[in-house]
Amino acid sequence: MYVNMGLIGYPLGHTFSPVLHTHFLDITGINGGYTCYEAESPSSIHYLLDMFKRYSFAGVNVTVPYKIEIMKYCDALDASAEKTGAVNTLHFVNGKITGYNTDVYGFGRMLETAGISTAGKNILLLGAGGAAKAIIAYLAEFKPDKLTIANRTEAKAGFLASLCSFKAVSSDMDSVRGEIYDIIINSTSIGLQGEGFPAVGAASEVLVDLQYKPAVTPFLAGYGSGPERINGFSMLVWQACRSFAIWTGTEPEPDIKKLSDIAYHS
Ligand code: NAP
Repeated sequence: MYVNMGLIGYPLGHTFSPVLHTHFLDITGINGGYTCYEAESPSSIHYLLDMFKRYSFAGVNVTVPYKIEIMKYCDALDASAEKTGAVNTLHFVNGKITGYNTDVYGFGRMLETAGISTAGKNILLLGAGGAAKAIIAYLAEFKPDKLTIANRTEAKAGFLASLCSFKAVSSDMDSVRGEIYDIIINSTSIGLQGEGFPAVGAASEVLVDLQYKPAVTPFLAGYGSGPERINGFSMLVWQACRSFAIWTGTEPEPDIKKLSDIAYHS
């Protein structure tokens, strides 16, 4: 049996997902392939989903900017997607689509393996899109002392803050510039088109960027020397493992260092 898998989003020039899933196919011995489908506008989603069903795809990942938009195409949502309010993984079974969110799992594994705890911390979260929702779902379990959500469209940050089960406030991007936090997490897509990202606020412990390409991302590059910094590569690997398991029934055991060498140097 051949397992067809893929990715929808725009732009996709930055993605490492095909490299990761091809590696998972290799190490699990499963026969299949993973292909990227750029959807420049939401109107093409419908046609892509029809095509995936016609060619018996097992599932696809969904990335920027469609993690919320895609929910209306799902016939059912797994608890991970319900809890998050965003979907990054579609599973096709008997012509029906179930939406999952594996970013919450990926984000948690990334922090755990880096020895970072969010409990009781003063955290700045930049961005209020689909990835921010996954982070907030994680923080609901490992509650910070205070979360500030800053976003270009402040109303979206305000809405997310109102959903939090812990102390959370919203801000625009400019008002947090002079503030100090324990942890700053970037979940915006600023920089994906190659633009710079000047520092926003200061972090005393760690800077976490969900972006991962280049390894020193525009957000991390915006800070000089200072606190520990991690990019989103290991989150990407862990969320991909969980998606692969949903589609194939087999959870790969990744060697993050080896995968990083393959992804950044191939
Ligand atoms: P999204 O839903 O499209 O949200 C994008 C966010 O970025 C929004 O808050 C948006 O603000 C903000 N933004 C975009 N362009 C901006 C600009 N020019 N100036 C200021 N703010 C801007 O995307 P997403 O799914 O949340 O993903 C966000 C990022 O996380 C992407 O870079 C993605 O690659 C990364 N990510 C990585 C992983 C991983 O596994 N490492 C997983 C998930 C996501 P508005 O609300 O004002 O539009």
